[in-house]
Amino acid sequence: MTSHSYDVIVAGVGAMGSAACWHLARRGLKVLGLERFDLGHAMGSSHGMTRIIRLAYFEGSHYVPIVRRAHQLWSETGAEAGMQLLHVTGSLDLAPEGAGPVESSLRSCLDHGLTHEVLSAPEIARRFPGFQLPAGHVGLWQPDGGFVASEKAIYAHVGLAQSHGAEIRTNEPLLDWTPTAQGGVVVRTERGTYSAGRLVITSGGWIADAVPALAANVSTVRQAIGWFTTRRPELYRPGAFPVFILSVEEGTFYGFPLYEHPGFKLGGPHFGREPMDPREPDRTPSPRQVALIRDCLARYLPDAAGEPLSLKGCVYTVTPDDDFVIDAVPGVPQAVFASACSGHGYKFASAIGEILADLSTTGQSAFDLKPFSLSRFPQA
Ligand SMILES: Cc1cc2nc3c(=O)[nH]c(=O)nc-3n(C[C@H](O)[C@H](O)[C@H](O)COP(=O)(O)OP(=O)(O)OC[C@H]3O[C@@H](n4cnc5c(N)ncnc54)[C@H](O)[C@@H]3O)c2cc1C
Repeated sequence: MTSHSYDVIVAGVGAMGSAACWHLARRGLKVLGLERFDLGHAMGSSHGMTRIIRLAYFEGSHYVPIVRRAHQLWSETGAEAGMQLLHVTGSLDLAPEGAGPVESSLRSCLDHGLTHEVLSAPEIARRFPGFQLPAGHVGLWQPDGGFVASEKAIYAHVGLAQSHGAEIRTNEPLLDWTPTAQGGVVVRTERGTYSAGRLVITSGGWIADAVPALAANVSTVRQAIGWFTTRRPELYRPGAFPVFILSVEEGTFYGFPLYEHPGFKLGGPHFGREPMDPREPDRTPSPRQVALIRDCLARYLPDAAGEPLSLKGCVYTVTPDDDFVIDAVPGVPQAVFASACSGHGYKFASAIGEILADLSTTGQSAFDLKPFSLSRFPQA
């Protein structure tokens, strides 16, 4: 059994935790990152190669300042790590004219002066012939959107953190933690006991185990993604095709240009909630989810509607209002946490790592975190 002491322990080295390790280590702090599985595993929320980054944000204008900072950090961190993490392809929000998603994305563009265009269905078909949309659909085009290479980004953050002295221990989950009378924490794993001045909890689908105050307000659901043989790959290459969110009567789906896989990637339905316990080892998508994805391809992206090449399941950690929770553990200011998912958190990870480093070192953030407080829930 080992017993060591650190400035900060980060529990959960996925999207948010790896970024937190980097932002803490680069400030000269002695950091320990504990991870339940291997680095870059496929049991959490961050595998599957890519995640969309959109600046036009239908989930709310208040996200835009944070996603702008994240966009900048993905470029800077990629350059520092010698990897391309951010791929700018432009983003399209697609929905029937007058419907919520396009209207809300438009509002965020107007509120924050983001470059944008509203495109009609014929204009979308002319620019991006890979789509076959219903006649009444429109698209909100925002040229700065794109995708982040999600598994590479975890490796990049961890590599940079290690180069600044961080210790990363994989296959070593935090079992429990306790605050100390001196204002620090003691963390227990199967291999040892570690003490630290601060604790950052970023354990994704398992977060309520370490932050019981979250239990009433987070749940976990299964989400499906697949890669499908394309008949006309030239229509779906970066440069010819953007990332997109498509709202249709069957649900909300999202897709990517081709990237490091021969198949076209589509995920969803985004708001289709199939409960799932992350402790359950099976990550196979349900037949219903796969059928919905294939039906969406056949109707709206027919040249990408070939046979599945890869199908994967993934965990969404959702809150009742689909907003994140970024806060200190009630009554324990030295322990901060981020539950930033509800299916749209990855794009923010670079900035949330920085926010967690700020909160755990100064107790403050440059961003307005009120919309993400735990106390907004009546049962917190
Ligand atoms: C299929 C799918 C598609 C998505 N698409 C998008 C998208 O296009 N754009 C977007 O912005 N977002 C998207 N999201 C959401 C985004 O991926 C998540 O918000 C993000 O991955 C959450 O990161 P995290 O660090 O909270 O979780 P994870 O990356 O899962 O990290 C949590 C880590 O904690 C570890 N852990 C758990 N318990 C412990 C413990 N006790 N001790 C130590 N370690 C522990 C886990 O093993 C895991 O590695 C998508 C999510 C899914 C599932």
